[in-house]
Amino acid sequence: MNKILELSGVEKYYHRGKPNEIAVLRGADLMLNAGEVVSLVAPSGAGKSTLLHIAGLLDTADAGTVALNGKVMTGTSDRARTMARRADVGFIYQFHHLLPEFSALENITLPQLAAGVSARAAKSRAMDLLDSVGVADRADHRPAEMSGGQAQRVAFCRALANDPKVLLADEPTGNLDPATSDQVFEALMKLVRETGLSALIATHNMDLAARMDRSVRLDGGVLTS
Ligand code: ADP
Repeated sequence: MNKILELSGVEKYYHRGKPNEIAVLRGADLMLNAGEVVSLVAPSGAGKSTLLHIAGLLDTADAGTVALNGKVMTGTSDRARTMARRADVGFIYQFHHLLPEFSALENITLPQLAAGVSARAAKSRAMDLLDSVGVADRADHRPAEMSGGQAQRVAFCRALANDPKVLLADEPTGNLDPATSDQVFEALMKLVRETGLSALIATHNMDLAARMDRSVRLDGGVLTS
């Protein structure tokens, strides 16, 4: 099977060698296959965000390797990692982080224009994505004119705008009330399944975790299934 993301023996320390050293990751191994949706379950402070940032090449590990789309990215240049991240990774956070002065449509077209897509094609893809998560009627609205759930759906579309290989999500519905969280999570799963994307989705919610293909647990700096 095609491996999209592979972490081997990943270690990460903060304040390394100092009395206040924190060993967040102590040899974490993870394999994500093409089209697979995996939940990352961990207590708060266990290192979920650290792991997602290392997996998405936003941060580097102190030991171990990260391979994305079959290429080992550990030890490559900053530029190579930035290019790989832009091409292959979509991020979603607990808060939408949309650009407040732009409409939903513009928030999804801008990353495509930056990647060299034509304005017409970018707009068409943005509208398709918005339609697929049920917020096409909010295309011209700014984030402040949308509900939290709507803004988060737009953020999902933005993360998928440039057709990444893997989606990394850090408690994507953690900010929403339970009923909205459920609907927004369904919209995310629909989008992920439609596009055949691989995803690693951190959540505290065991009901949501149960709807994914499998679950990995981060505790004590290692991942277990
Ligand atoms: P989670 O996302 O599971 O809540 P994090 O990855 O944010 O966990 O953090 C894991 C641990 O590392 C926590 O104890 C946190 O306080 C610590 N930590 C995170 N980032 C830093 C940093 N930049 N400097 C020092 N400690 C950090």
